[in-house]
Amino acid sequence: MSTLPLRPGLEGEEPYGAPELDVPVRLNVNENPYAPSPAVVESIARAAAGAAGRLNRYPDRDFPALRRALADYLAVESGVRPDWEGVWAANGSNEVMLHVLQAFGGPGRACLSFTPTYSMYPEYARDTLTDYVTGPRRADFTLDAAAVAAAIERVRPAVVLLASPNNPTGTVLPLDDVRAVLEAARGHGPAGADGAADAVVVIDEAYGEFRRPGVPSALELLAESDAAGPRHPHLAVARTMSKAFGMAGLRLGYLAASRELVDALRVVRLPYHLSALTQAAALAALDHREELMGQVASLRSERDALVAWLRGRGCTAHESDANFVLFGPFEDRDAVFAALLEHGVLIRVVGPEGYLRVSIGTPDEMEAFRSALDGVLAGTRPRAPRAAAERP
Ligand code: PMP
Repeated sequence: MSTLPLRPGLEGEEPYGAPELDVPVRLNVNENPYAPSPAVVESIARAAAGAAGRLNRYPDRDFPALRRALADYLAVESGVRPDWEGVWAANGSNEVMLHVLQAFGGPGRACLSFTPTYSMYPEYARDTLTDYVTGPRRADFTLDAAAVAAAIERVRPAVVLLASPNNPTGTVLPLDDVRAVLEAARGHGPAGADGAADAVVVIDEAYGEFRRPGVPSALELLAESDAAGPRHPHLAVARTMSKAFGMAGLRLGYLAASRELVDALRVVRLPYHLSALTQAAALAALDHREELMGQVASLRSERDALVAWLRGRGCTAHESDANFVLFGPFEDRDAVFAALLEHGVLIRVVGPEGYLRVSIGTPDEMEAFRSALDGVLAGTRPRAPRAAAERP
């Protein structure tokens, strides 16, 4: 029997994470299936070697060079150039959003989100002693902007977390809905001595680069201003290098917001949270952005083809603007998950009851998934997928 003084609320909690299984086809954590090319590996190795020679010194605490490079990348990707002082980065967008909760959440405060959504959000809230309050999405997983506004007025949250595209459903938020949420958040944050503050609205665009052509990014709203300055100083748009960029192992997430919001995050970050090796590797990777993003278009078309294929097999498959597809419903989704795993294909049991989520892999991996699922649906044994080493 332990006598450790575990914080109330952590009893019985398990560490978060999907199973890490060594199987030939891993389609469970929405990674980019394409490894960096030898040229990218070479650049990162050279940058890391340069940084290694200075590892006796702490890294740059405010890392302006990396923040400028991230602002440049966002300008090319979305057409909106954020001020570099309104860009912030940490070890994955998980840590960036934890900084937001550390700065704006806390005891007596609430974080509001709309389910089904990313299952780490309640953990950021738990870890910062913030209440986690949820409202429902519509049956098609879109948000009812009027219901969101009503929930904001009722809950008076410090932070609203909205993923777009949403995980695990793939659903994007139209900009008019984001605008409506930002308006509702104005003056409806936590009450304080000076009256009510605004609620901070985080649009989590971890999968933003996979959105379909013509779908705008919430970054566009950061550019809106009037005589008083930025129109939405309470907006933060979170991004990551883990998904489209193909750098999940690097652990580099970031956000763009007003300078005032980022200055609050700088107060709560640990000194030197971003190692010199991470900064050097991220800068080197950003130099290769065109190549690293080169597979996004083909991943998008694999995704759209998969939705059509699943529908052809009688499944419900949701339109997705991300690199995964939610499909089902199955009477026993755990049995379908286990049967696919037996054939070397690892996906994720997540989302509404009966549904499963599959990440988009290479054409060979998707063929292995389709063949395994066909076999499972038909109750027959599909052909075994080729082992990872055999794939080109
Ligand atoms: N947001 C969403 C919606 C995600 O699905 C993920 C990763 N699964 C993240 C944020 C965090 O990603 P990272 O910490 O790797 O940037």
